[in-house]
Amino acid sequence: QQQIQLRKRPDGWPSEDTFSYEEVDVQEPSTDEVTLKTRYLSVDPYMRGRMNDTKSYVEPFQIGKPLNGGIVAEVTKTKSEKLKVGDIVSGALNWQEYNTVSAETVRKLDLHGASMSTALGVLGMPGLTAYFGMYHIGEPKEGETVVVSGAAGAVGSVAGQLAKRKGAYVVGIVGSKEKADYIRSIGFDEAINYKEKHVAEALERACPNGIDVYFENVGGDISDQVWPLLNPFARVPVCGAISSYNLEQGEEDIGRRVQGYLVKARVKMQGFLVGDFQTHYKEAYADLARFLQNEEIQFEETIHEGFDKVPEAFLGLFKGKNIGKQLVKVGE
Ligand code: NDP
Repeated sequence: QQQIQLRKRPDGWPSEDTFSYEEVDVQEPSTDEVTLKTRYLSVDPYMRGRMNDTKSYVEPFQIGKPLNGGIVAEVTKTKSEKLKVGDIVSGALNWQEYNTVSAETVRKLDLHGASMSTALGVLGMPGLTAYFGMYHIGEPKEGETVVVSGAAGAVGSVAGQLAKRKGAYVVGIVGSKEKADYIRSIGFDEAINYKEKHVAEALERACPNGIDVYFENVGGDISDQVWPLLNPFARVPVCGAISSYNLEQGEEDIGRRVQGYLVKARVKMQGFLVGDFQTHYKEAYADLARFLQNEEIQFEETIHEGFDKVPEAFLGLFKGKNIGKQLVKVGE
């Protein structure tokens, strides 16, 4: 079977060269272990950070060692009482076609009737991220104005719909006309294509009452247009800043430009990790599944087929190739 390893650490943009495919054995399970066949593999922007040799909230990937991330897999062999052959699970697993791991390290999926791939998107880590960022930090209220950047992505598309559920007026910022059409079709009130429009002017027009919640996914120039429009006591869930992930060492720290506005408007701006909310996962999964069933939220997936497409899918995240959650379908 094939395993994808980190070949070298990128300085700036990663490329196909960042990865190498190696042949490795499929291990037999021992007591309490299971062998899992990868069905869907998730590529996520945070993985870029793990490619740097810097200590963060997760350990860096090691050169010559497998990459690792969210995977949905099927149990093909079991020596565990917890899982039987054919069960579908998800977990943080190596980028391999098969993983043999302790049954304790994966979660058996309860899909509430949804497809298994949703466990990596709307009913998985990105969905939870949108939920906690919007409902525990952003806390949009009826009639407020909410702006979401990266709005057609896995997190952003859900975050915007969750704000709509609360009766907010929701504006999304995206990188193409197709994405603008998409987010309007799922209920966003306004869509701004930052590649075509002057973001500052478009935001001023779209947000005549200022901005009460800014769900931050991208950072950089786009967000710089948001700060001046923040209302007193606005909330800014700082989910990510993808525009900075591929900066080379020594490039300017764009984060510095925002502080003045935050002080002036007494903004509560809170960085968060989805893992901070572990004690609320159960209610969040149940809520998201119910919203999905009631068609209060919708979701999109961009799916590449084949284990050989993993690098391409990952690199595409930074070029805006995906609508909704980017996944790789590995096996039937
Ligand atoms: P997405 O599905 O949103 O994919 C990434 C998207 O980002 C692209 O499609 C692209 O859309 C946009 N993008 C890429 N480069 C740039 C750029 N330079 N400037 C502006 N937009 C860009 O990914 P996710 O939904 O998985 O993640 C979204 C954000 O949430 C990321 O910042 C990620 O790190 C963060 N995150 C944080 C978590 C937490 O616990 N705090 C957990 C999960 C995610 P477009 O075409 O519109 O530019």
